[in-house]
Amino acid sequence: MAKQVLVFLGPPGVGKGTQAARLAQQLKLPHVSTGDLFRDHMKRGTPLGLKAKEFVNAGKLVPDELVVDLTLDRISQADCSNGYILDGFPRTVGQDNMLANALEKRGEAVRSALYFKAPKEIIVERISGRRTCKACGAISHVKFAPTKKAGVCDVCGGETCQRADDAADKVVKRLEEYDVNTGPLITHYEKARLLAPIDATKGVEEVFNAMMAAVKKLG
Ligand code: AMP
Repeated sequence: MAKQVLVFLGPPGVGKGTQAARLAQQLKLPHVSTGDLFRDHMKRGTPLGLKAKEFVNAGKLVPDELVVDLTLDRISQADCSNGYILDGFPRTVGQDNMLANALEKRGEAVRSALYFKAPKEIIVERISGRRTCKACGAISHVKFAPTKKAGVCDVCGGETCQRADDAADKVVKRLEEYDVNTGPLITHYEKARLLAPIDATKGVEEVFNAMMAAVKKLG
């Protein structure tokens, strides 16, 4: 069977991280989220984390040279040998070209780009209520998926908080960055007939079912 290299596309806050984590569990593939990788480096205070921090916290894209090596290194690890889910990468045409070149050398290619779509009002509502566990990174939402006890992660009991870049002013910047830099990738994958659009306006279960139907079609 061809290696399952799946790319998750869509604006920040559309819910693709939640769905990527579920699909990863279902398909037993690693969920490679570049945002999570950066947050981990920032938490550990590594040189990469320190460099990335000013961009991430300002809602700006981290320069390609910092993100590409990090991602290519991650997908070269043994647990990615059957495939992986790329969540938040590529985010620019430059990153996409570098990914395609690296995959070609390995005899691999992106199998499908699942594109999660929702209007801006829904995205802003989702991001502003999103909470992330400081300890394990699990995502909850004050309105749509509240934790049993406010401020306490259901998964590990850690403290939940709003990500610095989920604050309203940063969200505007991130959505701008998305339109300018990531928008052209949608057209690119559509032309390549690899785009699988998914209506992400529905609840988590319905979106999950739509995603599973799209993945099943890939065979
Ligand atoms: P996310 O968790 O996917 O919303 O990513 C959080 C932040 O990490 C983004 O706003 C960027 O600052 C940074 N980041 C994640 N992935 C990338 C990427 N592929 N290219 C550039 N910056 C990224």
